[in-house]
Amino acid sequence: MIGGGIVGASIAWHLTAAGAAVTLIAEKPSGVATPNSFAWINASWGNPHEYFALRSRSMREWTRLSDAVPDLSLSWQGGICWDLPEHDLLAYAKEHASWGYDIRRIDRDEIAALEPALCDIPPFALHVREEGVAEPVAAVTALVADAGRRGMEVIDGVAVTGLRSGNSGMDVVLADGRTLNARQVVLAAGAGTAALAATLGIDIPLETPPGLLVHSRPIPKLLNGLLLAPELHLRQTAEGRLVAGTDFGGLDPGADPQGAAEGLFAAVRRFVKNGAALEMEAFTIGYRPTPRDGFPVVGPVDGIDHLYLAVTHSGITLAPALGLFAAKEILEKRPEQLLAPYRLARFG
Ligand SMILES: Cc1cc2nc3c(=O)[nH]c(=O)nc-3n(C[C@H](O)[C@H](O)[C@H](O)COP(=O)(O)OP(=O)(O)OC[C@H]3O[C@@H](n4cnc5c(N)ncnc54)[C@H](O)[C@@H]3O)c2cc1C
Repeated sequence: MIGGGIVGASIAWHLTAAGAAVTLIAEKPSGVATPNSFAWINASWGNPHEYFALRSRSMREWTRLSDAVPDLSLSWQGGICWDLPEHDLLAYAKEHASWGYDIRRIDRDEIAALEPALCDIPPFALHVREEGVAEPVAAVTALVADAGRRGMEVIDGVAVTGLRSGNSGMDVVLADGRTLNARQVVLAAGAGTAALAATLGIDIPLETPPGLLVHSRPIPKLLNGLLLAPELHLRQTAEGRLVAGTDFGGLDPGADPQGAAEGLFAAVRRFVKNGAALEMEAFTIGYRPTPRDGFPVVGPVDGIDHLYLAVTHSGITLAPALGLFAAKEILEKRPEQLLAPYRLARFG
């Protein structure tokens, strides 16, 4: 298993829990994109039904996973969304309600009752009770720790420099000079996936757009759930920090990340009551591993034995389903229908 972010950790956990002997190799324990994620678990607007189906299945799989893994730091706090023009917001509600999403229109009074700290209450919004958050570092730590208790080995702080395919498995070449042989390699190295796949001659069209989020110093509980407004997306972490981006994917930091962060934090101060008292603790810039068409790349690769790929944006939402399905596909050789649209072969 190469990759110790949320996607790699989840696949490694599911393989280990199913009885496989797993070694997890991660240059950066807890991941690269993962610790810098907004970490909203959702099946929200803007996607075709088949992708909605995968995302909403994964939302349910988070609940299963949190029953199996201690300290996963999962919160089904719900989200209030009004980040679209009125016509689009209503179309989103209608479409997703017909798909079974637990979405409903709420008016100004209900918004104010749900989130009394909001300064400007919109006339109406949509409430999705079933959306949530997994605190990303806590979730990865919990998955790796639990898999470790079940026998998984971890090699961290070392980069993989290349992969070599052979008859009896795959050689994994490490930067410290070691070469390990694996019967099966799962490559879930986030933004590093394309470079490692290229050592096998595989081309993964992967983009890595930056996303800047601002983080306040911890404050007592202010928000009850996620807020998805036109000007920013905001949530409060389990430790009490407010985290915001111009949207969940983060602001483009441009040439002046400090200035961009200060501008964004000023918007957070205006957004909530007594916001002037908020202090910015830090800003983060994460690079979202995003296949060119915006959808996951998951599964075996035609013509290359002993290799399984898993790279995606929305990895926080998708990690439990990808972990479950990848383990089944690898161990039982049974293709999962929900993953059928997301094979690398679609890029030709
Ligand atoms: C600003 C931002 C906001 C986001 N918001 C959301 C959101 O609200 N909801 C959501 O679902 N998703 C969100 N995402 C996306 C989500 O965070 C990512 O899809 C997910 O974290 C990817 O996880 P990963 O495990 O694939 O990769 P990473 O977390 O990047 O982990 C990659 C792992 O591979 C290892 N690695 C890479 N190359 C090598 C190598 N050569 N040798 C050894 N190890 C290697 C790294 O060290 C690391 O351990 C957001 C992302 C960002 C940046």
